[in-house]
Amino acid sequence: MEVKSNGFRCENCGNKTYGDKEICVKCGSENSIKPIPKVLYKCYLNGTFYGGGNLNYILELFKDYVVTCKMYGKKECDFKIVKD
Ligand SMILES: [Zn+2]
Repeated sequence: MEVKSNGFRCENCGNKTYGDKEICVKCGSENSIKPIPKVLYKCYLNGTFYGGGNLNYILELFKDYVVTCKMYGKKECDFKIVKD
């Protein structure tokens, strides 16, 4: 995953920082996190809600079902991704 130099926030106080190793100017915390993106996607499998999150999470759902579990032996599956 690409690491961007903005969009990070201090894990302790929520102050804006510029990377996950940036020391917060407000509270001195060394830990910053990238907040979960506001745009969420919903994944439906065979018409049933399967999971939701960012696109990387949707990709994980897809990979897990299709690649890792070989579609659980089914002949076909129907993945539908909806932008929230
Ligand atoms: Zn802070």
